[in-house]
Amino acid sequence: MTLSPQWRPETIAVRGGYDSDASTQAISVPIYQTVGYQFHDTGHAARLFALEEPGNIYTRIMNPTTDVLERRVAALEGGVGAVAFSSGMAAITAAILNVARAGDNIIASTSLYGGTWTLFTSTLEDMGIHVRFVADEDLAQADAMFDPATRAVFVEAIGNPRLNVTDIRAWADLAHRHGVPLIVDNTFCTPYVAQPLKHGADIVVHSLTKWMGGHGNALGGIVVDGGHFNYDSERFSYYSQPDASYHGLVFASLGEAAYVTRLRVKVLRDTGAALSPTNAYYILQGLETLPVRMRQACTSAQKIAEQLLNHPQVSWVTYPGLPHHPSHALAKEYLRPGLYGSMLNFGVKGGADQALRVLDRLKLWLIVANVGDVRSMAIHPASTTHQQLSPEEQELAGAAGDLIRLSVGLEHPDDLYEDLAQALDESASPDA
Ligand SMILES: *Cc1c(COP(=O)(O)O)cnc(C)c1O
Repeated sequence: MTLSPQWRPETIAVRGGYDSDASTQAISVPIYQTVGYQFHDTGHAARLFALEEPGNIYTRIMNPTTDVLERRVAALEGGVGAVAFSSGMAAITAAILNVARAGDNIIASTSLYGGTWTLFTSTLEDMGIHVRFVADEDLAQADAMFDPATRAVFVEAIGNPRLNVTDIRAWADLAHRHGVPLIVDNTFCTPYVAQPLKHGADIVVHSLTKWMGGHGNALGGIVVDGGHFNYDSERFSYYSQPDASYHGLVFASLGEAAYVTRLRVKVLRDTGAALSPTNAYYILQGLETLPVRMRQACTSAQKIAEQLLNHPQVSWVTYPGLPHHPSHALAKEYLRPGLYGSMLNFGVKGGADQALRVLDRLKLWLIVANVGDVRSMAIHPASTTHQQLSPEEQELAGAAGDLIRLSVGLEHPDDLYEDLAQALDESASPDA
């Protein structure tokens, strides 16, 4: 398989995990739109089912198109393996179900994507997996929350919507001191801008729906394993003890492949949120241009952030690339030099009503509940993505009423700023 450890991300994004198709010489990754695979004979079939030999069994568990995507993203993140899922939420759910069961708990930052917040506070809670929240990345507060039932720590590389950059090394050290892995949602950075596994994180999750695919045409998610965490402990008895659903296989005996193997052959097998091969292909198409897209989108976001800062109707701008941002120093430590992501938030003078008036006057920006698309998008989180949160929770999550969230795409940055400026000016004029 074509993959050199020396390759830079630009090369991996285009070539990683795929040689020309062995039977057809096709250079574009073929879409293997098949559910089943023919076994050589009954012995072959039995060996595959017993995990004695690698090979394709059924597309819910593995598929050759999806396999290229998994290898490519694992290489971009510097992981030992990856498993793709039908969406980012499916990936996050699986990443947690692979370490926690009813009665267990995980520790998470409050600075989370809205869907993750409701998964943690509602659905996981219903399943008996309790999430203990740490406000403001307070490591001392987090340190006091661990107990023998804690199974993982979960943070976002860039938190949503405060755009706080997480001190991954500090969180990894804390998690490891307590014997649990650190899971990082790296969606807002992509591996081109940040590589959490290199800073001590154990597991990375992504919504591939966003920047990784980039074109807003396919949902997908992925979990990448760094392979460094040792699950051979009493705390992770379902790794260190024989598994009844695999004739007594001890997952911990697989070493660095323990987590990613269990994730595929147990969690994905049993819960079934598999990525479709066609969506894997769309996402691979997007991944090929990830580095060039990220460079442009981040550079445009920086420029627009600086321009908004000087607009009279703007009360504040949150962007990690601005020197006054509370995370600017951490951004310099963890993000690729000069790139600070393509998300930015700003406050409109006059509060929520005025923010809504600005949004309704935008002509180029699309009002969409998505981020990381080549098209630039704006939204008012308090009345949409974070609507289900109480006002106190909104405040805690950083989704105040005057906040407009921008996902900067690939249109010309001057066109994007001019559209924002006309909407801000129009909505502020007395007869607007
Ligand atoms: C969108 C998003 C998710 C969820 O991904 P889906 O593909 O929409 O399920 C999770 N985390 C972050 C940071 C996201 O932006």
